[in-house]
Amino acid sequence: MLRITNTLTGEKEDFQPIHAGEVKMYVCGPTVYGLTHIGNFRPVVFFNVVRNYLERKGYKVTYVSNFTDVDDKIINKAREQKVSASEISEKYTIEFIQDVESLGLRRPDSAPKVTEFIPQIIEFIAGLVKNGSAYVADNGEVFFSVRHFKDYGKLSKKKIDDLQVGARVDPNELKRDPLDFSLWKPQKAADEPAWESPWGMGRPGWHIECSAMAMQYCGETFDIHGGGMDLIHPHHENEIAQSEGLTGKPFVRYWMHNNLLTMESEKMSKSLGNIFLTRDFVKKYSAETLKFMLLSGHYRSPIDFSEKHIKDVDAALHRIYSARLKCETFPSEGLAPGGEGSTEENKLAAFSQDFPKLWQEAMDDDFNTAKASGYVFEYVRAVNAYLDRKKFKSNEKALELCQAFVSAMKDYSSVMNVLGENSETFLRDLRLRYLEANAITEEMVLEKIAQRREARQSRDFSRADAIRDELLEKGVEVRDAGDTSTWDIVITPKS
Ligand SMILES: [Zn+2]
Repeated sequence: MLRITNTLTGEKEDFQPIHAGEVKMYVCGPTVYGLTHIGNFRPVVFFNVVRNYLERKGYKVTYVSNFTDVDDKIINKAREQKVSASEISEKYTIEFIQDVESLGLRRPDSAPKVTEFIPQIIEFIAGLVKNGSAYVADNGEVFFSVRHFKDYGKLSKKKIDDLQVGARVDPNELKRDPLDFSLWKPQKAADEPAWESPWGMGRPGWHIECSAMAMQYCGETFDIHGGGMDLIHPHHENEIAQSEGLTGKPFVRYWMHNNLLTMESEKMSKSLGNIFLTRDFVKKYSAETLKFMLLSGHYRSPIDFSEKHIKDVDAALHRIYSARLKCETFPSEGLAPGGEGSTEENKLAAFSQDFPKLWQEAMDDDFNTAKASGYVFEYVRAVNAYLDRKKFKSNEKALELCQAFVSAMKDYSSVMNVLGENSETFLRDLRLRYLEANAITEEMVLEKIAQRREARQSRDFSRADAIRDELLEKGVEVRDAGDTSTWDIVITPKS
């Protein structure tokens, strides 16, 4: 049974969709006025996995995520660059889609844009005005009357009177109550995008778009609404007020919120200037590094980005992909029949059996991707403990266990969107990246290894050891097997 922590109730609950076998989910999408940073991608990466996992459980999933393509930030950027607002929003919508594709993520089933949704939004607002939930100010601005909605604050657990104390009162405001928020904004300047409405030329406020679009694609009451924790108040609180204010029905069954990605313990934001653009990250590290890092913590816990964290993630990927490559290239010819019956073999065989059940149990427990990753590490340890022993000799059972590991990783990656790259390519790129960081090339490594071989042949072991240590300092480990030596990068030295 899948269990989900519901922000609305504050409890971990059994998941029961409204219609058997079907899940409708809506996740707040980006405001398209600039290139995305890696913090923006935490919900994108995580809710994609949620969608995959629901599909794995047999649900037919409808996944909707919007584009906010009308907003003050877009208008300001357009003014700065002396172009139209639509030029900005169209450009950054395309850039966002490119970032999603560079991470190998599936696009939503629907990705509506506010600008293509104006008639529905106007109709929504008109309904709220009609039933008294909203009112029109003298300048044509339409406000939602927060006090009219008695459940206001139920998602964020904020009391309306406490909010009142903190609210700024602007004497120029046309609001009846400082807590009221804008549903429709009158056009103030000719360069602001505007549409005709019963209240004059203007554009929708931010919150109303998500209510209108979610309801159109997912229904008046739907299963899952997701987004970052920073959206709980006011954005999602206001979505509930507008939607339930219109229909009188519960808007969403399960509200899911991902925690944020911090950078060296600080919030990542454009205004603080400590952002890491998604495309820069993918170029400098890899898409796998980003996705694996974002899934290495539980979605409700903060993740702190740091160079050390990146190294740990790369070291983990290196271990997993190396084990996979070893299994993929395990020789299949001339094998002794049966197995060896060793403890390591039995342990690995037992773990291969349990692995699919274990990671899916972790996912059933509120999408615990951190725990699921932990089982992958455990599996890799069992594979290495078995194959890397001196006593190990190839046999049919070993081939079967290697094949089982490869197909288990393939299955895992089909849900988690990680560990699905070609092993050889991934490891080669990773190796090159770390060699480069240590100012050494593959040719230099091979030359050093040749020199070391010569030293060993002339029984100059102190020189051979010195070369080995020199390479290790450059993050390269040499392993001897008989007369030959192999090498690999060491990302995090063993302590
Ligand atoms: Zn939204």
